[in-house]
Amino acid sequence: MPTTIHSMNRFLVFFIVWAILGFSALLFYFRASAAAKRRNHPFIVIIGVAIFLGFLYWVGLPSEVFLYGIPFAIFLAFSYIRSVRFCDACNANVISRNFLTSPKQCTKCGAPLGAPPGRTGPGLPPG
Ligand SMILES: [Zn+2]
Repeated sequence: MPTTIHSMNRFLVFFIVWAILGFSALLFYFRASAAAKRRNHPFIVIIGVAIFLGFLYWVGLPSEVFLYGIPFAIFLAFSYIRSVRFCDACNANVISRNFLTSPKQCTKCGAPLGAPPGRTGPGLPPG
């Protein structure tokens, strides 16, 4: 891939958009309620991965990269969705140390954690 002014501009757009999205996600994860985070977390991760892959394609990465990159990105996205829970008691974001399992207890306040992200089960506040 030849480095031209054109592709440098695309990288610049990529980093600016990515920084704005990252800052927005940070604000959301620090300010939103646990129920809102639980409901929206899978969509935010999936949309983030899709935008990231779209940008990689747009800046001109060779298509062979996507042959392995897309399945790996999907695996990472679903593992990340499963490994993050949100505490209803203290509103903390709890990320499992083991990337493949869901945390069962809040690491901040010790309360048991509710349903996996994206679900609102019985006993959880509507939200
Ligand atoms: Zn907690």
